[in-house]
Amino acid sequence: MPPQEPEAPSGGVLESPSAPRSGPEPTIYPIDLEEQIDPDAVKVMRRLVKQGYEAYLVGGGVRDLLVGSTPKDFDVATNARPDDVRRLFRNSRIIGRRFRLVHVLFGGGKVIETATFRRAPQQDDSDSDDLLIRNDNVFGEAHQDAARRDFTINALFYDLEHHVVLDWVGGMPDIERRTVHTIGDPSVRFREDPVRILRAIKFSARLDFGISPEVYDAMVECRATLARAAKPRLFDELLKLLRCGAAHRAFWLLWEIGLLDVLLPELSTFLADQPDHEDTLWRLLDEIDRMTRERGAPLDEVVLVAVLLAEPLKEACQGARDRVEAAYRFLENIVDRLNMPRRIAEPVRRVIAILPRLEGGRAGRFQRTSLYPAALEIATLYARARGEELADIEPPLGEPAGAPSEGFAPAKRRRRRRKPRPEPA
Ligand code: ATP
Ligand code: MG
Repeated sequence: MPPQEPEAPSGGVLESPSAPRSGPEPTIYPIDLEEQIDPDAVKVMRRLVKQGYEAYLVGGGVRDLLVGSTPKDFDVATNARPDDVRRLFRNSRIIGRRFRLVHVLFGGGKVIETATFRRAPQQDDSDSDDLLIRNDNVFGEAHQDAARRDFTINALFYDLEHHVVLDWVGGMPDIERRTVHTIGDPSVRFREDPVRILRAIKFSARLDFGISPEVYDAMVECRATLARAAKPRLFDELLKLLRCGAAHRAFWLLWEIGLLDVLLPELSTFLADQPDHEDTLWRLLDEIDRMTRERGAPLDEVVLVAVLLAEPLKEACQGARDRVEAAYRFLENIVDRLNMPRRIAEPVRRVIAILPRLEGGRAGRFQRTSLYPAALEIATLYARARGEELADIEPPLGEPAGAPSEGFAPAKRRRRRRKPRPEPA
C-alpha cells in the first residue's frame, strides 16, 4: 500500500504538496474548489486518500469548475487498482472489459467514475504512419495519466486534500487564455484518435474557447482521417455537437474546417449552394441552442437530427421525379456513412416525411402516434427560426385538409456558387 499523504499545512499557500508522486513535478496552483465538488465525489476521494492512495478529481469536472460552469459529472483518478477500489466501496461495480474502471454508485442514480491512472501505449516505430491507438489499457502514474489525455484543459488534476490544481501539461494557462490546445503535437494526437478533432470543436463551441492556430491547422490537415474513426463514435460526437448548447458555432466550425465534407457532404454542398440571404439552417441551429438553454437540457435526438437534415433533404427532393425515393436515398447514404442507429434513423425518416402535412394542417392520424410531439417540436423550431409563433403555423388539429403545402419554405432557385469560408476563429 502506498505511504500515507501528510496533512496539508493549514491556512497558508502550499508550496509543494508532499504527495508521494514520482516523475516530473507539476506546476501547482492553490485554489479551493471543495465547496463546488459533488459531496459523493468528495467522499470517494477522501476514502481513497485515507487508505493511503492518491486520488484526484480529473477531466471535465475540474475544467468546468475552473471556467465557472456546472460540470456534467465528477470523475476520479487514482493509483488504486480497480479491485482495490471495488473492495473499498460496497456500492460499486467494475465495468468495461478492455479498460476496467469502477462505478461507485450513490442515490438518485448518481455514478462517480473512478479510474486507475493509465499511461499512453508505446507506439510501434515499425509502422510510423499508423498512429491510431488500438490499446490504451496500461496502468501508469498520475503524470502519465495527465499526458495521455487529449487537451491541456482536460488534463488538470485537483488534489482535494491540499486544495491545489496539479498541472503537468500547461492546462491552467490555456484555461486563462480560453484556448483549446492538444497535449503535444496536434497532428500526432489527431492521427492517434481522429475523434479528438470533433472533441476540439465541441469544447471550443461549448466553452466559447478559441482554438490555437497550430491546432486549427492540424484539424484541417487531418480532417480526412476522420473517415477512419469508428462510425458509432462519429455519430455520437455529432449528436453531442447538436446537444451542447452551441450547435450553431459547432456546425460552423465543422463546415469551415472542411469536416462536413467528410462527415455530411450532403450538408456542406447544400450550404455552399445557399444564396447569401438564405440562412434558415443557421437560424434553426440558433433556435436549437436557445431552446437547449431555456430548458437547461438537450432536445430530443430525433428532433435534432431531423432539423439538421430537413433543409438539405428538401432540396435533394426538389425536381426529383420520385420524391419519396429521393428522400429515401438521401437519408440512407447518411445512415450508412455514420452508422446511424435504427432507433434514430427510423423516426427521423418518418417525422421528416410528415412535416409538410403537419404544416399544411393535415396531421390527421399522425396526431395519435408517438412521433407527434417530436414533429410539433420541429414545427416550433421552424416557426421560431422565422420569427413566428407556433400558433401562426399550426392550424387547429383535425381541421379538414387544406391545399397541399410546399413544405417549410417555397422552393427557391439556388445560385450555384461557393461561399468564401471565413477566417479561422
Ligand atoms: P464532458 O463534460 O463533455 O463529459 P469531458 O472532458 O468530461 O467532457 P469525457 O468524454 O467525459 O469528456 O472524457 C473525460 C476525460 O477523459 C476528458 O476530460 C479527457 O481528459 C479524457 N478523454 C476523453 N476522450 C479522450 C480521447 N479521445 N483522447 C484522450 N483523452 C480523452
Ligand atoms: Mg465527462
